[in-house]
Amino acid sequence: MPSNLVIVYHRQPYEEVEVDGKTVFRENKSPNGIVPTLKSFFGRFESGAWVAWKQAEDTSNPDFDRVVEIEDAYGKYTVSRLPLTAEQVKSFYHVTSKEAFWPILHSFKERYNYDPVDWPTFREVNWAFAEAAAAEAAEGAVVWVHDYNLWLVPGYLRTMRPDLKISFFHHTPFPSADMFNVLPWRKEIVESLLACDVVGFHIPRYAANFVSVARSLCDVDVTRREKVDPEFAAEVTALSERSVPTELVHDGRVVAVQASPVGVDAEYIDRVARLPETEDRLTDIRADLGGGKLILSVGRTDYTKGGIEQLLSFERLLETRPDLRGKVRLMHVSVPANRNMTVYENIQSDLEQMAGRINGRFGTLDWQPIALISRAIPFTELVAYYRAADVAWITPLADGMNLVAKEFCAARVDGDGMLVLSEFAGAAVEMGSALLTNPFSHRSMDSAISQALEMAEDERRDRMAALHDIVHRHDIRFWAEDQMRALLPGTSPAPSAA
Ligand code: UDP
Repeated sequence: MPSNLVIVYHRQPYEEVEVDGKTVFRENKSPNGIVPTLKSFFGRFESGAWVAWKQAEDTSNPDFDRVVEIEDAYGKYTVSRLPLTAEQVKSFYHVTSKEAFWPILHSFKERYNYDPVDWPTFREVNWAFAEAAAAEAAEGAVVWVHDYNLWLVPGYLRTMRPDLKISFFHHTPFPSADMFNVLPWRKEIVESLLACDVVGFHIPRYAANFVSVARSLCDVDVTRREKVDPEFAAEVTALSERSVPTELVHDGRVVAVQASPVGVDAEYIDRVARLPETEDRLTDIRADLGGGKLILSVGRTDYTKGGIEQLLSFERLLETRPDLRGKVRLMHVSVPANRNMTVYENIQSDLEQMAGRINGRFGTLDWQPIALISRAIPFTELVAYYRAADVAWITPLADGMNLVAKEFCAARVDGDGMLVLSEFAGAAVEMGSALLTNPFSHRSMDSAISQALEMAEDERRDRMAALHDIVHRHDIRFWAEDQMRALLPGTSPAPSAA
C-alpha cells in the first residue's frame, strides 16, 4: 500500500537477528531514542514506510526480502531495504560521507580527504534511495530524509515526484560558507536541499550557516517567517539562540529553514535512573571509588570528540594539583563506531598510549587515574555511571548536539552532579547552566575541570536544577512536536509508544 509518510534514514529501524536459522526483527534499543521517535510518527499517518540500506553480504542470503512488513508497538509499516554491495557501502558511506563530508561538517579542513571520493557512486546510491522512497510514497505524501549521507535524495525525488512534501533533517553541525564551500560538489548538494519544503537543523547557528551557504551559491531570496504557534516559538527562542525561522525562495519554490534541538527521552531515563538495579550498581561503583571523585567522559572514538585534548588536560590537572592524586579518577569511555577506518583506529591507539603513559606516570599500586573503556556500555549500566559521577566532562571540539550531556542531566534524579560542556557542542545553546569550556584552550579546559571538582554543593544543585528542567522540557517529544508542525502545519505531535 502506498504510504503517507516515508522516512529515509540510512539505518534500519530494528535489529535483525537469526534465531534457530530464522530471521527475527527485534526492537532496536538505540539509546538516544531517535529511531523509536521517528517510528512514533507512523502513528499520526494512515500508513508508513521506512527506507534504509542493507549490505550485500547480507543480501546474498536467498531469503532476503527487499521489502518487509513490520508490526510493532508503533503500528504497521513497511521497510524497504536497498541492497548495496560492499564496494558501494565503502564508497558512499566510509569514503564520501566519513572522509570528505564529516571533516568539513565539523570544520576540520585538514582532515578532509577528497582524493578517494567516487562521486558517481555517491549519486547512484542517493538515486537508489530516492527511487525507493518514490516507490513507497502515496500521492502528496511526506518524505522525511535524514542526514548528510543522503544529501542528494531531495533533488532526485523532486524530479521523480513533484507532488511530494519533502523535509530534510541534519543531525550534524552545518559549517560556515568558508568551510562548506571547500566541497567541489557544493552547488549540487545545496540545490538538492533547496528542492525540499523544509530543511531542519539542531540550532539556529547551523540554520544561519546554511542560509549563508545557499546565498553564496544559488539565486535565493531570504525572508523571515513567523512560526505557526507563537507560544512555541517563544519557548524555542527564549531558551536557545535568538532566531526567527527563515524562508528561502528558489526557482519559484519556498523552502522553510528551521532549527529545533533533538532531545533525549528524559522520562525513560528518569525511570531507569530510579530502578533498584541501577541503585545497586550505583552503590557498587561508589564503593569501588572508596570516597574518591569520579569524572566521567563518554563519546564515540572520533577526532571531533576531543578525547586526546581531554586526557592531556587531565594530565596537567594531576601535575599541578598533587593533592588530587589518589583521590580522583577519570573514566573515559571511547566507543569505536566505524570499524576498519584507519583514522579511527589511529585515534584509538593514541588514546590507549596516552592513558597508559599517564597511568604509568601517576598511578600507584592501589590507584589508577584513568580507566579507558574502549567498548560500548549498555545504556542501563551507563545510567548508573551517570548517577555515580561527580563530574560529566563532555568536551567535543565539534558536535552537532551531544546527547550524552543531556542524558547525564536527565539521569541526575538526586539533583546533584556537575556538567562541564564544550561551547562547541550544539547542546551548549540550551545548557548554559553547565560550566562551559573551550576545548581548544588549555587554560579554559584546565580551569573548568578544577572548578567543577571544587564547586560548592549549593551552586552545583542550582545549576543541575536548571539543566534537569531544560532536558525535560526540550525532550525528544518537544523535538518531535516541532518536526510535526513543520511536516504538517496545524497538527499536534505523535503520541509516543515508547
Ligand atoms: N552510548 C551508549 N553506550 C556507551 C557510549 C555511548 O549507549 O558506552 C550512547 C549514549 O547513551 C548516547 C549515544 O551513544 O545516546 C551517543 O550520542 P551522542 O549524541 O552523544 O554522540 P554521537 O555518537 O551521536 O555523535
